[in-house]
This record gives sequence, structure tokens and C-alpha cells, in this order.
Amino acid sequence: MPRYDLASMARRQRNFRRSAIVFRDIRPPAMLATDLYQRCYKPVVDLWASAADTIIAQYASTIDTMTTDAPADISGAIDGASNTFDRLFITLTASLRDWVLRTEQWQRGSWRGAVLSATGVDLGTLLGPADVRATMDTYIEWNTKLIRNVSDEARKKIGDAVFSGLTQRQPARDVAARIREVVGMSQRRSINIASDQLSKISSELADERRREAGLSVWQWVSSHKLHPREWHQARDGNLYSEEADMQGKTVNGKTVAEPPARDDWPGRPPYCGCRSKSVLVLD
Ligand SMILES: [Zn+2]
Repeated sequence: MPRYDLASMARRQRNFRRSAIVFRDIRPPAMLATDLYQRCYKPVVDLWASAADTIIAQYASTIDTMTTDAPADISGAIDGASNTFDRLFITLTASLRDWVLRTEQWQRGSWRGAVLSATGVDLGTLLGPADVRATMDTYIEWNTKLIRNVSDEARKKIGDAVFSGLTQRQPARDVAARIREVVGMSQRRSINIASDQLSKISSELADERRREAGLSVWQWVSSHKLHPREWHQARDGNLYSEEADMQGKTVNGKTVAEPPARDDWPGRPPYCGCRSKSVLVLD
């Protein structure tokens, strides 16, 4: 729901000669994704990387001697890493909250700047984090689950490698390679999650800020990635509006279309780097 009428505010501010203004592209800085990975996901990867060393050493001595209590030691090492994760989790959740707050602050500042440069209207005091509280909470909860899932998956896959190795009496170096591969996968997945989460939260916040301002029209900006979704690439520059009475109208020489399903909006599907630019229609 619109909270303020940016079109009216802009008209009071300036005499516009154009009938529509496309706002500048707000592109999330990669540094924010790196930061999410470093502070919230990397500690989990590091935890399992260091547990992996212990587990690999224990596996090697177990396969040499095949004493009956050795598998219990390995289980203990895996449980120990899980317990360390549980203690670490509180700190990670706090870092996550902090990251979401900072990301919202960056997005809000960028939106304010885009509105100011396009219209001369300074939204400063009109905008606050409380307006998008629900979205921030959603991302805190979602990432909380993802962080836990990265740890659970590492635990499960390391456990599988160890116990299938023991059953089949696999050489220590083979099991070590599998365990290290699990840690490598956790790391790659975490890096991807962090960049995907940044795209998603920044796209969602951008849409919320646009709707708050009473703007229903937006323009698709393709990610111009090396391997984009072809149908996303094809939408580059297209105009959309979620308001039925705007659809079919001509803005800046383009026909405003009905947007696709929301899970296929810019920045929403996995690893989509597309964005949207808000469009202020003045007539
Ligand atoms: Zn895309």
C-alpha cells in the first residue's frame, strides 16, 4: 500500500517536461554478499573444515587398527562439531541481524538518492527501517535456516563418508578426499547462498520502497550475466505494472505489460542478478 504520493510531491518540487522518469539502477555492492558469507556462513565452513582434519586422522587410525571403540570416537568428533555449531549459532544470528540492518540501510540510502536525483524530492525523514520490518524478519529467519542447513548437510555428508568408508574398509586417503570435497561443497554453496540472498533481499526491498511511494510501474534491468535466463534477457528494458489500469498504457514509447508471476520477478529466481528500476509516471 502506498504510504505517500511521490508523484504529487515531485510535481510540487519541479516542473517536469517529461511524462515519465526512469529512476537510476540500484545495484547491490558485491561487498555486501562477501560480508554475509564472511560473517555468517564462513564460520560454519571453517568449523567443519577443522572437524574434518580430526575426523580424517581418526579414520586413518581406525582403519589401521580396526578397534571396536574407534567408530565411537569418530561419532564423538562429529557430535562435538555439531555442539560447537550450536554454541556458535547465537553469534551467527546476531551477525545476521546486523547484516540485514546494514543492507536495508544501504538500500534505503540508495533509494533516497535515486528519488532525489530523479525528482529533487528528499524522502529523508519519510523513510525508516520500521516500514520494511516484516521483510527484514523474513530474511533473518530464512538465513537462520540456511546457516543451520549448511551445517546439518556437512555433518550428514561427512558422517556418510566415514561410515560407508568403515563398512567397505576404504583406504583413509579416499575417505579423506571425500570429506574434503564435502567441506569444499559447503564453501561453494555458502558463497552462492550469500550472493543469492543479497539479490533477493535487495530486489524485495526495492519493490517495497517503490510501492510505498505509490509507483506501480517498473522497468526490467537484465543482469547481463554470462549465462542469463533467456526469458529474463528478453525482458530487458520492458515496463511492467501490477496495477491493471496501467497495463496496456504507453509510457516513454513502451507498452506497460502485466508482470510475470512474482517468483519470476527480477532477482527472485536462484542466482538471478536482474533488477528493476522504478518509473515515475507524471501524467
Ligand atoms: Zn534474471
